[in-house]
Amino acid sequence: MTTAITLNDLIETHLNEIAQDAWEKHRVMRRVHGDGRVLQLGAAAVWELWTCHADHGYGLCGEPLLTPAQASTLTGLWNDDLPVPDPKIPAVEIEQLDSALDGFLIDDLYHFSDVTAEIQKVNG
Ligand SMILES: [Zn+2]
Repeated sequence: MTTAITLNDLIETHLNEIAQDAWEKHRVMRRVHGDGRVLQLGAAAVWELWTCHADHGYGLCGEPLLTPAQASTLTGLWNDDLPVPDPKIPAVEIEQLDSALDGFLIDDLYHFSDVTAEIQKVNG
């Protein structure tokens, strides 16, 4: 009997490695899709994919973390590689599956509070 390893298996394995790594290095936890909170700002909404369990000096954080694409969806600003140029809490670098590139790349995760602060800045 042979065991076929599919690309999906490899991706799933690597996603699990990333999740493990993110937890050990950054205390960032991956949410099962659809299991996280819905983050809504104005008319836009995204699923929570990552949650921060780090302590930034004032107890357990617990904030949702957003990918740049998610942050752009909420801010409505697509013209910038850096949707949150000056986050109050440093962005967390995590390898992520990019469906557009069909591969993995390192991306920043932003705290929800920094994304909402950015929107308030833009809206004056
Ligand atoms: Zn945090």
